[in-house]
Amino acid sequence: MLQSTFFISTGRAAIAAALLLIGTALAISSASAAERQYYDILYKTQLDPESGLADVEISLSGAQLPTQLTLHLDPDRHKNLDGDSLTIEGENAVWTPKGKQDSIHYQFVIDAKKSSGSYDSRIINKWAILRSDKLIPPISARAPQELQSRATLEVVTPKKWNTLAPYVKDEQGIFQLKDPGRRFIRPKGWLISGRIGSRQDIIDGTDTVIAAPLGKNIRRQDTLAFLSWTLPELKKVFPQFPEKLLIVMAGDPMWRGGLSGTRSLFIHSDRPLISGNRTSSLLHELVHVGTGIRGDHESDWIVEGIAEYYSLQTLRRTKGISERRYQQTLEALKTWGEESPNLLVKRSSGPITARAVWVLHCVDTAIQEASDGKQSLDNVVTSLAADRGKVTLKKFRTLVNKAAGEEITLLDREFLEGKKKP
Ligand SMILES: [Zn+2]
Repeated sequence: MLQSTFFISTGRAAIAAALLLIGTALAISSASAAERQYYDILYKTQLDPESGLADVEISLSGAQLPTQLTLHLDPDRHKNLDGDSLTIEGENAVWTPKGKQDSIHYQFVIDAKKSSGSYDSRIINKWAILRSDKLIPPISARAPQELQSRATLEVVTPKKWNTLAPYVKDEQGIFQLKDPGRRFIRPKGWLISGRIGSRQDIIDGTDTVIAAPLGKNIRRQDTLAFLSWTLPELKKVFPQFPEKLLIVMAGDPMWRGGLSGTRSLFIHSDRPLISGNRTSSLLHELVHVGTGIRGDHESDWIVEGIAEYYSLQTLRRTKGISERRYQQTLEALKTWGEESPNLLVKRSSGPITARAVWVLHCVDTAIQEASDGKQSLDNVVTSLAADRGKVTLKKFRTLVNKAAGEEITLLDREFLEGKKKP
């Protein structure tokens, strides 16, 4: 057994550090797969529409357990924590599992609203829609190097409810969780439970499910058809697109837009597949699922711009919109973007994202011209999606210049801040 322990966190930077540590530890010990030991994590939750709460039990079992787990709580939603070997330290719960089996309990407040007042998490007497990565908070684990987790999620519901999450279920209806690259596995992505209807198909190798509460005005089949001609095109740019995809739809009072999650997304059922301005919220969120990137304090425009640009590109490439309409949309976004010349801000939306699309279009053209058509923004975006995690202006610029084979001045800071013309 190795003496070294390390820390796994859901933070990308910490992951990178942990991977570095794994690498170092492996080099020193040359620990082989045969030496690996496993313990089991069972996440069991009971959804209760009466109280609006989910009872959660996290149980560990195995010959050896992690020495310490730190749960990073949301104090408004994770309540009444209980466990023999649990201490609360501010917004963290520190669990030092004992013996070969140990468990903790808590309650999770399911209903949550976004700032606009509409729900992004909700339970009523007929259904529940929530994110499993909120239900189970981020957890940092301290464990010996060779110790690995296997994890399952069991959702107990009122009678006649069905539950879907972007994971395979076994014969007992228990989700078999996967989280490649993580040693401490926890569920992620959207979860829908209740009296629901769903449509499923394999689209270009991705097991795609569209699910929504039973009722009228939910276009599951239309949505599936739309994906069957757009997803394969999108997957050319994102070859590592998940093998499982869950799309959750619902009407008011849920959030009136789209919200992406791991291998899944939520979209309000009133959203058209293609809007009047020829953009698509559904494709926008799908690009987020495909890239898995997030911005730093000044690069959200890259994340949002890519989502919007590739939703538009995908429609154009699949002939959902004509070349003429595509050009018109670009021009309209360019004009709108003039309202907000500075891209280097914390959050990109509205005119900032519109300007981001125009800038990315120009960058795309510049790469193609500089490389005699051999490279395009596709190559840059494919690389970003392969790395996932945080994107910075520096990283983006490096990839763009590499694809172009020369310096692309469009990515000068002063131009991006709207202080000068390229
Ligand atoms: Zn977005």
